[in-house]
Amino acid sequence: MRVAVIGAGMSGILAAIKLRERGDEVVVHEKAATLGGTWRDNTYPGLSCDVPSHVYAYSFELKGDWTKRFSPGAEIQAYFEGVARRYGVTDVIRFNSEVVRAVHEGGRWRLHTKDGRDDTADAVIAATGVLHVPAYPDIAGLEDFGGACFHSARWDHSVPLDGRRIGVIGTGSTAIQIVPALADRAKELVLFQRTAQWVLPLANPAYSEDEKAMYLRSPEALRQSYDFWAKRFVDTFAEAVIGNEAELAKIEAACRANLEDNVRDPELRRRLTPDYRAACKRLIMSEEFYPAMQKPGVRLVTDGIERVEAAGVRTKDGRLHALDMLVLATGFDGHAFLRPMEVVGEGGRTLAEAWSHANEAYRSVAVPGFPNFFMLVGPNSPIGNFSVIQISELQIAYIQQLLDLVRDGRCSAIAPTAAASQRFNSALREAMKGTVWVTGCRSWYLDRNGNPALWPWSFDRFRAEMRSPDLADFALL
Ligand code: NAP
Repeated sequence: MRVAVIGAGMSGILAAIKLRERGDEVVVHEKAATLGGTWRDNTYPGLSCDVPSHVYAYSFELKGDWTKRFSPGAEIQAYFEGVARRYGVTDVIRFNSEVVRAVHEGGRWRLHTKDGRDDTADAVIAATGVLHVPAYPDIAGLEDFGGACFHSARWDHSVPLDGRRIGVIGTGSTAIQIVPALADRAKELVLFQRTAQWVLPLANPAYSEDEKAMYLRSPEALRQSYDFWAKRFVDTFAEAVIGNEAELAKIEAACRANLEDNVRDPELRRRLTPDYRAACKRLIMSEEFYPAMQKPGVRLVTDGIERVEAAGVRTKDGRLHALDMLVLATGFDGHAFLRPMEVVGEGGRTLAEAWSHANEAYRSVAVPGFPNFFMLVGPNSPIGNFSVIQISELQIAYIQQLLDLVRDGRCSAIAPTAAASQRFNSALREAMKGTVWVTGCRSWYLDRNGNPALWPWSFDRFRAEMRSPDLADFALL
């Protein structure tokens, strides 16, 4: 079977490895000149992963010598490059090959790329990521700014930082990593906060040489560490967000204590205090943010942005904050999924038409009417505060079982039925009512209908649902 994978980030590399293990012919179309997805695109100062290193790795390629408990971004990028090379995936990636259209015709998928080339495949796996399309803020005058201005995921490393007046818009996980990294370098650092965040203090110690040597020597110890962190996240965050009030109360108390213990000035504390429940937005983990906000030259601005001018940012109180450079840490469109690619399924129906009301997939991995078309980390995957790599691994194992039916000749294509997909999605919507994400905050989790694009059930349920497909929910073609 020939399978086209779209995207050479974490999920695409994984898919290529696993499909090739089954003997499939694989081509990975990657729109950029290099692999790595998120870890290629994001290079901002302070970038690191807030999922522990030992669990933020493929389960079959654990790495013993991460330098810190939470890895710096560059180390993660190097890890993916290394794994892709070792498994021969780099050789099957077509770089600079942006798929603009995928059409199901004559029982196969025909892919058209931006550079005018065609490819055909028996199956397609879209591994195009979730937080991939930068969200630019709708702020008047942004284009008038006289200094350097860029999105956090498009960092311009030619722009000097030392001794400059730097503005950062946003207070998400990204901004909270950027601020401590720039606090000692900038002459002035101004953080424009629209909404305060709950911040959980998580220490990020470096692994000692002895620890690294021990993990390199002992796959058993490394596996235990993987299991420990995976379980810890599942037992705490994953439970707290779906209605386990006791777990949520613990997280809330830890965040509140962090704020009270580590922000001395009562006025600054008041302005940094959120007015919504912890974990309603994605929880932020940092021991460095509050200390950074109290350094000389660092200012928190909460007055609201009126407009951007050539000289800086003018806030609603009329004040001009003069700046040399402006960072837009304003996040991503978490609902863009495969867009702007056009995907055309059975009967000429496009995915845009199928998703005109909402991004709805069957168990996050497939869509009725799109045979042999699968997604990794698709809509309503259990992303949040745990390792998306684990999620992707469970999804590809599930997809493999579906593709086995094609490989074994039991059918030539497979897709979920519309009825099964509707059942799944109405159960999802119902279950969302019990989650913390709908308790009254704005976040990238919520789609345009106000529904979170997440998994409202336990991680164990996800694992169980991904164990083996229920073939009654599928049409075998
Ligand atoms: P984000 O969480 O969506 O935060 C965007 C920020 O920009 C918010 O504070 C938002 O304010 C603000 N904003 C947006 N438009 C604005 C406007 N017009 N005026 C003023 N403020 C505006 O984005 P992110 O920080 O890039 O993080 C996105 C996700 O990436 C995270 O939730 C996480 O899943 C992932 N991430 C992970 C890590 C990691 O270590 N694993 C690191 C970075 C990012 P409001 O809150 O008021 O909307």
